[in-house]
Amino acid sequence: PAPSSPSRSSHGSRSSPRIVLFPSAGMGHLVPFTRLAVALSAGHGCDISLVTALPTVSSAESRHIAALYAAFPAIRQLDLRFAPFDASSEFPGADPFYLRYEALRRCAPSLLGPLLAGAGASALVVDMALASVAIPVARELHVPCFVFFTASATMLSFKAYFPTYLDDVGAGHGVGDVDVPGVYRIPSSSVPQALHDPDNIFTRQFVANGRALATADGLLVNAFHAMEPEAVEALQGRFVLSVLPPVFAVGPLMPVNDLRETGEAAQKQGNYRAWLDEQPPRPVVYVSFGSRKALPKDQIKELAAGLEACGHRFLWVVKGAVVDRDDAGELSELLGEAFLRRVQGRGLVTKSWVEQEEVLRHPAVALFVSHCGWNSVTEAVSSGVPVLAWPRFADQRVNASVVVRCGLGVWAEQWSWEGEEALVRAEEIAALVMEAMGDDAMAVKTANVREAASRAVVDGGTSYLCLAAFVHRCIAPR
Ligand code: UDP
Ligand code: UDP
Repeated sequence: PAPSSPSRSSHGSRSSPRIVLFPSAGMGHLVPFTRLAVALSAGHGCDISLVTALPTVSSAESRHIAALYAAFPAIRQLDLRFAPFDASSEFPGADPFYLRYEALRRCAPSLLGPLLAGAGASALVVDMALASVAIPVARELHVPCFVFFTASATMLSFKAYFPTYLDDVGAGHGVGDVDVPGVYRIPSSSVPQALHDPDNIFTRQFVANGRALATADGLLVNAFHAMEPEAVEALQGRFVLSVLPPVFAVGPLMPVNDLRETGEAAQKQGNYRAWLDEQPPRPVVYVSFGSRKALPKDQIKELAAGLEACGHRFLWVVKGAVVDRDDAGELSELLGEAFLRRVQGRGLVTKSWVEQEEVLRHPAVALFVSHCGWNSVTEAVSSGVPVLAWPRFADQRVNASVVVRCGLGVWAEQWSWEGEEALVRAEEIAALVMEAMGDDAMAVKTANVREAASRAVVDGGTSYLCLAAFVHRCIAPR
């Protein structure tokens, strides 16, 4: 792969830092990076270049990037073209997004230097999945390197502490409960599944990146103090780890309205907007498990029966495969014609991408049954929609614990996640949805979290000040 040259030749001045943003793969990483790009470019007058690894893993990513450049021509495009990376023999059965992280990690040492020099970068912001390979390259060029953590502050504290935990327990011991200093105990059952296996591709990256955090010039996290006070204070006060660099809690980064799908992709999205508009205020349960994973087929059937039995209207985004390009099957194959007929009118089920941010802001939506990918959580916060948490994998149980602690929603902790066999039954799902839909106290608490988020991001708020402090560091690095 070779980086393309930036579209303009002027270099960043002292008053307008020239910042290169380098996300890794998957919408869960790309979306917060594009929000950061827009906040820095349009909001703080920075000169922003975004590194784009092509071809993207999913088509959702390529559409999102195209929409970003169309709406924000001031953001420069730095393309990294990829030869196919076949590591399936090295990591049999590995997740395609993790393989892409690995491919990026392997090419970063040789590619990143020329790319930064060509862009005249005054600072680099890399995704947490690339930290350990990117920081040494930036250091060599004397370019300050910041790590952007696209998940929760609680998860960042866990990640920063986890290598120390491993060193303390010693090799050969399983991962138990992890007491993150200054934060709280992450039970073994909430530790991302992969981390129980020291040889897993994800674990190797996670630990290498965790160790590298101390060598960054600063850490950005899409979180805000009022929602995760323990974690933000423990990170900023260096209780988690005494050697941590400054931590800038800049969230929740605001969604960018102009990035809607257009053309054929918009048509494929079908009629969910019209359907939502037809609903009276607040009867709809929105159900989505994010862009990364598909529920097992038998769990999809239980969820279908649960939604049918709960009696509420629902909008359900179903994924049948990990990567959207592979998801060709029909809805009726997954759910059965009879189910689709029975719920017609009351429930809308779709396999296509929906503009989730727009859905959550729609007055018809009252509850979000969510896997608790961190972006989904932050979007629920900004739109004030209570969450019924059903974490499935990776950091999602940690995020679900944040959801409960801050008052954003509820979590049935005994519900299974990937790797556990027990199915969550239709009756349990229906009962919890009904309870959450009738929980007025929860709706009030959720509204309070939204208020706190609004206060954090306006001029003078904690997140606003953190972002401004970060920009200042890029102008006048220490
Ligand atoms: N993560 C991390 N370092 C990495 C990769 C992932 O800290 O090198 C963390 C982070 O908390 C992230 C979680 O692991 O949110 C799951 O990451 P993954 O990329 O699997 O999931 P996604 O964010 O795409 O849902
Ligand atoms: N998303 C969306 N429409 C969909 C599925 C996902 O807009 O049909 C967006 C969602 O709003 C979020 C991102 O994709 O911004 C997914 O990130 P998240 O961290 O919630 O979960 P992941 O997909 O990484 O598991």
